[in-house]
Amino acid sequence: MVVPLKVTGMESGVEASLDPRDWEEFRAQAHRMLDDILTYTERIRERPVWQESPEAVREGFREKLPWTPVELAALHERFLREILPYTAGNAHPGFFGWVHGGGTPVGMLAEMLAAGLNANLAGRNQVPVRVERQVVEWMRELFGFPAGAGGLFVTGTSAANLMAVLVARAAAVGTGVRSEGVSGKRLVGYASAAAHESVARAMDVAGLGTRALRRIPVDGAFRIDVGALEEAIAEDRRAGLTPFFVAGNAGTVDTGAVDDLAAVGRVARREKVWFHVDGAFGALAMLAPDLAGKLAGIERADSIAFDFHKWGQVPYDAGFVLIRDGALQERTFVSEAGYLRREGRGLAAGSPWPCDLGFDQSRGFRALKVWFTLQAYGAERLGRVISRTCQLARYLKRRIEEEPELELAAPVALNIVCFRYRCEDSDAVNREIAADLQESGIAAPSTTVIGGRVAIRAAIVNHRTRKEDIDRLVRATLELGAARVPRGAWYAGA
Ligand SMILES: *Cc1c(COP(=O)(O)O)cnc(C)c1O
Repeated sequence: MVVPLKVTGMESGVEASLDPRDWEEFRAQAHRMLDDILTYTERIRERPVWQESPEAVREGFREKLPWTPVELAALHERFLREILPYTAGNAHPGFFGWVHGGGTPVGMLAEMLAAGLNANLAGRNQVPVRVERQVVEWMRELFGFPAGAGGLFVTGTSAANLMAVLVARAAAVGTGVRSEGVSGKRLVGYASAAAHESVARAMDVAGLGTRALRRIPVDGAFRIDVGALEEAIAEDRRAGLTPFFVAGNAGTVDTGAVDDLAAVGRVARREKVWFHVDGAFGALAMLAPDLAGKLAGIERADSIAFDFHKWGQVPYDAGFVLIRDGALQERTFVSEAGYLRREGRGLAAGSPWPCDLGFDQSRGFRALKVWFTLQAYGAERLGRVISRTCQLARYLKRRIEEEPELELAAPVALNIVCFRYRCEDSDAVNREIAADLQESGIAAPSTTVIGGRVAIRAAIVNHRTRKEDIDRLVRATLELGAARVPRGAWYAGA
């Protein structure tokens, strides 16, 4: 006779599990949560774009570790009251700051399903890994990369740029660099003065140092000066250094400038250095037939870094890197750990795994929300959204040109418009106007510095943004500017 083992002090399985005791009640609560977040998105226009959180709310997030449970319904209430109203606001059509995506309800649902599966995309023989490979195949197709190219989901383009530098480093000095480091050769990389800081940070994190990234001057349209790039490479070779990497921009963060990628690619090929493209938001312009031509030459890149969470409208986060030489990518990262041993069958089959292709081991199922998004909307429709944000940028440019109080601060290449309210002490005033706009809840641009001068910067990324949102931005800028600058104090002309 089997006597049930009685362990004193051990909870029953039902009590120990974190699953609900009453699934019906939980289901009702879950549906309320889903409904509330859908309503939030449906009515987003009725909210301020952004608002400062009250001190009392911020104070509430300095509590002690909760050892005892709080009711889920109460947490949900608190989320609605204290978290939801005080985000950065990038889901809102009036958000123009930095380069933030708007997200979609489909992406949100897919993220929820991915969390429900709790799939770990390190690897194993499971279809979720096939879903990631499917997205890699689609991106290979979109960018005209060959079979054998590799790809990987990462947090964002910062991580994707780092991935590219690491694979390029292995291409330059061999994968022995993984055990021996880069002792000996002094590797130098190149990017334009307008490149995102994450390229320099990638050099830092890769142990090469930010000073080994040469910042090449840009032309009047903020594109890399290809002649200056060639000269810099030649000079470094004369000095006995090893040029190994050049990053072209498909959409710079400040102005949206697109480098002449074909020309940068030709220099890279001739000089036998790795040709990387930082296309954080801009690379997905490939989905828009009227814009794809601007990226000509991207198909020759050795690697491309971009985000689905910016122009792709996929909820955060969903960065991606595409690498022409997938075998080299694997040699750059694969590990021999015994617990990661592969087999010909069973759960440990299906090599290579995503953890062989990058520096992360455990990873979420980011691919699922991209797989849903690309299909539920279709690539063509996503391309139209991208194209429309550029049309809205051109509309904003025209509106600025019409207003004597405003001036453009940079050419408009894609979806980013930099402008100023004309006045004396314009740096300080434009910074104030940007903050006034944010605090007004009407529109949320950010600022940047162009040619040494502060500019208000509107990046139009969100699929919800309409012409009327652009009009509200212009009107509010004029009103807030007039309130800050005494009548007659602004002057026309520089
Ligand atoms: C946003 C951006 C990055 C950084 O991407 P993250 O996803 O924020 O890590 C890099 N380069 C450019 C041009 C960007 O716009």
